[in-house]
Amino acid sequence: MSHTEKFFVIHYAEVGLKGKNRIFFEKKLARNIKLSLRGTGYAEVQRLHDRIVVHLKQGTDIAEIEKRLRRVMGIAHFELVHRAPKNIKAIKDIALQLTTGMSFETLKVETKRSDKTFPLTSPEVSAEVGGHLIQQTGKRADMHTPDLRLWINISHNDVYIYTDKLQGIGGLPVGVSGKVLVMLSGGIDSPVAAWQMIKRGAKAVFIHFYSYPYTDKASLEKVMELTRILSEPNYRSVIYLVPFADLQQIIVTETPAPFRVLLYRRMMTRIAQRVAALVDAEALVTGESLAQVASQTLPNLRVIEAIADIPILRPLIGDDKADIIAKAEQIGTFKVSTLPHQDCCSLFVPKHPATHASLADLDKAEAGLDIATLVEITMNRIEKEIVSFSYEDDS
Ligand code: ATP
Ligand code: MG
Repeated sequence: MSHTEKFFVIHYAEVGLKGKNRIFFEKKLARNIKLSLRGTGYAEVQRLHDRIVVHLKQGTDIAEIEKRLRRVMGIAHFELVHRAPKNIKAIKDIALQLTTGMSFETLKVETKRSDKTFPLTSPEVSAEVGGHLIQQTGKRADMHTPDLRLWINISHNDVYIYTDKLQGIGGLPVGVSGKVLVMLSGGIDSPVAAWQMIKRGAKAVFIHFYSYPYTDKASLEKVMELTRILSEPNYRSVIYLVPFADLQQIIVTETPAPFRVLLYRRMMTRIAQRVAALVDAEALVTGESLAQVASQTLPNLRVIEAIADIPILRPLIGDDKADIIAKAEQIGTFKVSTLPHQDCCSLFVPKHPATHASLADLDKAEAGLDIATLVEITMNRIEKEIVSFSYEDDS
């Protein structure tokens, strides 16, 4: 099929995009598409009204481009379009080439003709091309529920042929919804929470608390690998690594055991919101899901939330564990998340942590701590890493 010109036409779905918003949205999407297609040898990404076109060069790896476009946030659906010469013989040939190798038993050809000087009417074109395909392939026509639809657009300048829509991932282009700071553990839930926020157009910055030397470095390695995987949709990512061991040591010696996890989480939240302010993130994101563990009961979420002065978003709050696991498998984080590691929150934790802590309990437990100083000392020890995803590393 090398003699036909081909290109991808990309559509997005969000309704209500108007004026300046639409331009902002389209520019972000076009930019993200370029980033995702780096190294594929595409020719150009062009913004048109209502759609984005990816022009190809001779010999570009079309299957690779299709694979990557399927994963770009904000694409609702897209098509691979073939340009055909304006005569029925050429249209029939290209339609046959295009469908060769596709799996279908029944098909329907649909023609739109805006050039009324073309010698055949739309139904005639559909009948000619459909008849040709059926005769050559032995497949059947089905006007109602065909396995495959072939579209032919005849305009003044060109004829375009394409088959059914390729499904995009949906969502919004990363960056259109602002920035969030994701509290990323090495576990299953928080990477899924991050992915969902990225899909809604939020640029994710990451923060991880680690307890080395009380735990080994496995959690750090896992978190770096999870960040790399999440950098495919999120693009270039920043992660802040917070040494948490000294703070935990102080909590363990100075406070009652039943509240430890909650005290850890409050200290984490205090530090995270300082980092959020530094990077202009407008919310924190966690992987919490209602009642999944003792620290995630409503009263306990409340005592964590009480010390926060920016929103804490919990995209998984109403999800069952099984659904979260399925999602983690789908986005490619599950394997890494289930490698063995010790989370800092499981360190020095009693068998029966409080499930119904009150604000008064927590304030009392913290009364002896110089919180401002502890936060300040820890802030000074945070390290920052940049993580990128590359399809070359991944293949
Ligand atoms: P996950 O599977 O994401 O680890 P979890 O079910 O183990 O979650 P918790 O350990 O209670 O639940 O943690 C709840 C949330 O707190 C996590 O989803 C994550 O957002 C955040 N969190 C926990 N541990 C850390 C950590 N070490 N660094 C950063 N954030 C953390
Ligand atoms: Mg965890």
